[in-house]
Amino acid sequence: MHYQAILNQIADRVRHFQGRGKVADYIPALARVPADKFGMSLATVDGDCYSVGDAHENFSIQSISKVPSLMLAVGQIGGKLWERVGREPSGDPFNSLVQLEFENGIPRNPMINAGALVVTDCVLSNTRDAKQAILDFVRVFAGDKNIHYDSEVAASEMEHRFGNAALANYMKSRGNLANDIEDVLDVYFHQCSIAMSCRDLARMFLPLANKGVSPIANTRVLSEARTKRVNAVLLTCGLYDAVGNFAFRVGLPAKSGVGGGIVAIMPNEFSVAVWAPELEESGNSLVGTEALALLTTLTGKSIF
Ligand code: GLN
Repeated sequence: MHYQAILNQIADRVRHFQGRGKVADYIPALARVPADKFGMSLATVDGDCYSVGDAHENFSIQSISKVPSLMLAVGQIGGKLWERVGREPSGDPFNSLVQLEFENGIPRNPMINAGALVVTDCVLSNTRDAKQAILDFVRVFAGDKNIHYDSEVAASEMEHRFGNAALANYMKSRGNLANDIEDVLDVYFHQCSIAMSCRDLARMFLPLANKGVSPIANTRVLSEARTKRVNAVLLTCGLYDAVGNFAFRVGLPAKSGVGGGIVAIMPNEFSVAVWAPELEESGNSLVGTEALALLTTLTGKSIF
């Protein structure tokens, strides 16, 4: 498969979709990212990596960080996690409060904000230094020691924390958060602030394409069974209330973030990361979705 030629072609064709979405503007550090950035990297399980455009530039991974923290928590407490968070698509916006009250403080899934706060709470309970543990996890599996938290983004998220604080407070009132709310929010906003490139992200997600083994770090991250389950959660919950459309158009398990990144998994073959900051109404990269739709069309590879 000529992945490099395909990526070049995609970069060319997606320009046409630019100008139709809106860059995240809830914090200044995200609002000033140039809308016309575009990068894409595809890492194969055999160790090759192909990139195009701004694929080596760092951006804010935001909700993509919900995946490494889920992998960490599942590794720490296993199936017990599912007593505190569900695994059904929410059909609601990623930061919605409505469902949480009806469902007694048990979030629908770990890919919406409420669910990610529960996962972060687990990581906090099971590690001495949760912020360091998350950063180390990302660094080791991306094979890049130069990945950092963006302290400006983390501080700004904390300053504008009220929606996430409402979710955390409600869950605390229903007994579904063990740690102090401010501590959970602090770790959660730090994980969201991690700055990484498409290349780093594609490499970090390789274990999900490789039955749980990282070809970068040469170690097993998750069992084969848990890898299958994390991919199932991505397929059904990774793009919030646009997940059905994404499965229809792209056909791969994936996770998006409001920084404009999306990472998708083709089991046994590759992981692919795309970055284009303009978002559609659900908070997913508009051009990124088009790029991944083109990828599965041009390669003929999807899970369906
Ligand atoms: N930091 C953002 C928030 O918690 C992440 C949301 C996202 O990427 N969808 O609201």
